[in-house]
Amino acid sequence: MGEAKEVDLPHIGRGFTTRAVHAGERPRRLEFTPTVTPIYPSVSYLADDPETQDAVFGGEREGYVYTRHGNPTTRALEIAVAALEETEDAVAFGSGMGALLAAILNEVQAGQRIVASRDLYGATQALLGNVFATLGVKTTFVDILDRDEVARVLAEIRPRILLFETISNPLVRVADIPALVAIARRSRVKTIIDNTFATPLLVNPARFGVDTVVHSTTKYLGGHGDATGGVVATTRERALEIGELTKLTGAVLGPFEAWLTLRGVKTLSLRMQRQCENAAALAAWLSQHPRIARVYYPGHDERGETAQVFNNDLRGGIVAFDIAEAGREEVFCFLRALRICLPVTTLGDVYTMVLYPAVSTHRTLSPQERAGAGIGDGLVRLSAGIEDVADLIEDLDRALAIR
Ligand code: PLP
Repeated sequence: MGEAKEVDLPHIGRGFTTRAVHAGERPRRLEFTPTVTPIYPSVSYLADDPETQDAVFGGEREGYVYTRHGNPTTRALEIAVAALEETEDAVAFGSGMGALLAAILNEVQAGQRIVASRDLYGATQALLGNVFATLGVKTTFVDILDRDEVARVLAEIRPRILLFETISNPLVRVADIPALVAIARRSRVKTIIDNTFATPLLVNPARFGVDTVVHSTTKYLGGHGDATGGVVATTRERALEIGELTKLTGAVLGPFEAWLTLRGVKTLSLRMQRQCENAAALAAWLSQHPRIARVYYPGHDERGETAQVFNNDLRGGIVAFDIAEAGREEVFCFLRALRICLPVTTLGDVYTMVLYPAVSTHRTLSPQERAGAGIGDGLVRLSAGIEDVADLIEDLDRALAIR
């Protein structure tokens, strides 16, 4: 290794390694305005002086000191989601589960209770049943579509929170948000909703008085299957509390993922419109198909009252269907025959994806429990992408023809 040559550059030192570390870094004032928020991977931030750093640390002044406490790229995403969800503020997380954990943890203490929908995403159910239960917070699960049951259980148990999803997985049942908020308020219960399946383009739960809205941004908000993340959209006061909690629990979103997600958010309405149109067209086509016993799609056999929760005519990008007299063998045969629809365990991306709940999201349930939840052995969930719908129909038709 040659000896490092010394040059005289002000402020950045003379030695090769010192220059390698410091040269070109830390422009104190940007004299240009980037059109797109840059990725700020910096873990720490310089202040003009120790007094300013102290004030930023203490929350008396806006700014950044350390990325676990706040990051400019992540902040840009939070501002964007709050604007779309029509909430005062938002806090971003490293995953949807991180967002759910923070939203729930912020509301409950040991000895308090939660009431939650029986239809929740499996990991959310497990979070309540495994993690919160061991912390002394017990959850009672209810049929969220049965208002009488919800009202009775809330009045009886007096929980801290009612937790449910706008559109359930995989049977896409739509919650009557205004009715549930009214019931919760009567019992002084806070509401937390997972709005991942609907997105703020279709439903804004805060408009109906929901206290906290959670998203897995991994799905529609990011939309391209390349960034895991989550967000909690809520009041400024609660966002500050959740932010303080997250400084300690640490499930923050990385700046690169924040940037990817923010980029995804820009085309959310275009993608979602197309995905919903494709899903609706597939639901209509599937319901005519001789091998399909039943199709699940909001609006398809919608009960009138839930229509009021939607901002527009779009009803989501997820459609589920029962292949008649099918079990594992027949569904596997169908999945193997698909050429365009991808058999993967996520949803909301620009490509069409199919999932077999019996071996994925609901595999830990016994066949009896699955049947009780309305999830038969021939049920398939499809997340419509933005492809040309004729290609999707051709793909499904060919796969359904093979036995
Ligand atoms: N909420 C819903 C409705 C989901 O479908 C998922 C994941 O599939 C999550 C939350 C969890 O999100 P993540 O995988 O980003 O942690």
